[in-house]
Amino acid sequence: MKCKVCKAEAVVALPSHNTAFCPVCYDRFFMKQVSEGIRKRKLLEKDDKVLVALSGGKDSLGLMYALAELGYNVTGLHIDLGIFDSSKKARSVVEDFCADKGYALKVVELEKEGVPMPLIKKHIRRPICSVCGKFKRHYFNKVAIEDGYTALATGHNLDDEVARLFANTLRWDQAYLADQGPLLPAEDGFAKKVKPLYRVTEFESANFSFLKGIPYHHLPCPYSSGASFTGHKMIWRNQELRSPGSKRAFYGGFLDRGQPAFAAIHEKKKDYEVEPCSKCGCPTSVGLCGVCRIREQLDEALVAAAK
Ligand code: SF4
Ligand code: ZN
Repeated sequence: MKCKVCKAEAVVALPSHNTAFCPVCYDRFFMKQVSEGIRKRKLLEKDDKVLVALSGGKDSLGLMYALAELGYNVTGLHIDLGIFDSSKKARSVVEDFCADKGYALKVVELEKEGVPMPLIKKHIRRPICSVCGKFKRHYFNKVAIEDGYTALATGHNLDDEVARLFANTLRWDQAYLADQGPLLPAEDGFAKKVKPLYRVTEFESANFSFLKGIPYHHLPCPYSSGASFTGHKMIWRNQELRSPGSKRAFYGGFLDRGQPAFAAIHEKKKDYEVEPCSKCGCPTSVGLCGVCRIREQLDEALVAAAK
């Protein structure tokens, strides 16, 4: 198999683009996908101060590398969830990666924030992954706002976005469909959020990190229980095999024609006010924000357990 650009030996075949690349041309292809995606949807300005959420996985580390290579002012943010060996490994991969590349890095430790995940798992009767997601979103936004970052970038790729869109569509969830996309502008105390990898698949992202020699964390979280997104990704993997390019067409069509329609409907329905949390000052529509509520519930549960 030859590279479609330079005719050298190809190492990556991409049926969805009907092409194949050698390592050098693949690098150009990938970086162009990212820079074109940013330009087309106006995700970032050159003077944005970008906080990149780093979980330690291939997507987030590859994103940090790509944005730095494109000349953006980037700082990494890692949330140490404190979930046994899985979190220790993730944190050390992120710290080593940033030290090696000379990238600035901030770390938030949930244990120091009074919401250690193992205690939440033990004492709070709520789906642990939804609590985990709430914490991550809360601290990403808190650090971005408090430390003056103008954009928060996450490593969601095309497969993530298609699986999420599919789930939202199965429920015809207007609010989520109205908000889904690679750009959420800053508003009401929330920083601008961008997903610069929305045009590249999981396979393409993994290849980029592999060819760049970026080490990544893949120790599974012990609380992972095979979320429904995994099932949706399997459906789309099969669809893509039968019809290469389906994911791009589904998501691209939604961004061009579906999302604007849902956003228009939802805008008319918005009937809540966002205000600062009465305890921590982070934006919320219910007085006390979700994280402060969980912290209070945990404190009460620990007092009850100690009696
Ligand atoms: Fe958090 Fe759930 Fe992922 Fe574990 S599997 S890191 S608890 S979202
Ligand atoms: Zn709060």
